[in-house]
Amino acid sequence: SLSSKIAICGMGSVGKSALVIQFLQQRFVSDYDPTIEELYRKQLGVDNEAVMLEILDTAGQEEYTSMLSHYLDKGEGYIIAYSIINRDSFNKAGEYFDLIAKIKESDEKYTGSGKFSIKNIPIVLVGNKCDLDGERKVTYKEAEKFAKKNNCPFFETSAKENINVKDAFFEIVREIRRS
Ligand code: GDP
Ligand code: MG
Repeated sequence: SLSSKIAICGMGSVGKSALVIQFLQQRFVSDYDPTIEELYRKQLGVDNEAVMLEILDTAGQEEYTSMLSHYLDKGEGYIIAYSIINRDSFNKAGEYFDLIAKIKESDEKYTGSGKFSIKNIPIVLVGNKCDLDGERKVTYKEAEKFAKKNNCPFFETSAKENINVKDAFFEIVREIRRS
């Protein structure tokens, strides 16, 4: 497909907006309004193939689950983000896997040819704020293990230091192409 719709989700303040803006504008915003939900579009080349990437930067109003479901439903791929310095956000990442599975379970694309599996849905797991290694609460190993279990690529990133940001976004495009 020439266009890819992705949603970045995760607990509030893990750095979703900072990641999106670092990726699209090559700058770090330290004070992005946490309540703003924004849709971005950008034409780019991934592995010598053009793609129109649509990125929905979700804002965690977790009480509006049906709205969140609606946004998640429209996506073709997902970046699930947590912060390596916040254990709750890692647990929350697990809940996003479950939520996306629940939403996609009725999607013909993933149910038509046999048994439904979360492993077939394009997802990239991202552990952000890796520049704050001294405050780390989630090890690389356990996150990697969790990602392997769910058959999804995993990156530790820093929106602040621009580490692995492009890689994570490019990888979700590749996952969508593979699906
Ligand atoms: P969101 O609620 O998930 O969209 O999180 P934001 O992008 O608004 O970021 C929340 C806070 O974390 C802000 O103060 C950011 O400056 C900070 N932040 C985001 N990414 C990083 C990062 O990679 N490293 C560090 N040290 N801080 C970050
Ligand atoms: Mg935000």
